[in-house]
Amino acid sequence: MLLLIPEMCLVGNCETCSATDEKLRSNPFNGKQQCMNCRVTHPKYAIIGITDIKSQYKLKDNDLRGLRMVTEPKPAFLGGADRKWYLLKQVKARKEKILRDKEAEKERVKRDRQEWVEKGKKFRQEEKERAKEEKKAKKDAMKREKVTEENKDFETRGKAAKRKMEVEPETDVEDEMPRKKKRFSFEA
Ligand SMILES: [Zn+2]
Repeated sequence: MLLLIPEMCLVGNCETCSATDEKLRSNPFNGKQQCMNCRVTHPKYAIIGITDIKSQYKLKDNDLRGLRMVTEPKPAFLGGADRKWYLLKQVKARKEKILRDKEAEKERVKRDRQEWVEKGKKFRQEEKERAKEEKKAKKDAMKREKVTEENKDFETRGKAAKRKMEVEPETDVEDEMPRKKKRFSFEA
């Protein structure tokens, strides 16, 4: 629905561009009488209301913090809250910054995740190596233990054999036998 609002709508020459016989309205930031084209699209002076900012740029009040804002009372017959105007170039710049920040944040999250995955891979690899080394060390230790046991066993048997030789040298019949045999044969 189009409302014809009889408010400060002059017809004349735009103070910003060269347009003549235009409907003019006062720019709330600099007080200049401007044509609608300059008011909406001029790279430096264009203005935008809070409702349009929210619907077109999807920005919240918080996102607009620090930007220049001018309020303008609504005509008495319309009533309601004051209009809130922002400079379009500032709103656009803020939107771009928010998008850039979001993109950077996304990149950061991606990078962090990648780093985490890589660290996990490295950690598991190291764990595997460690387990392998531990297994090998255990195996080597067992081998050494076996050899020691065998040596001990060998030593023990050696000692026992030596002891046996010391204790029973006379009972060694094998040594006596040939002599006895010889003797027998000699006697015979
Ligand atoms: Zn103009």
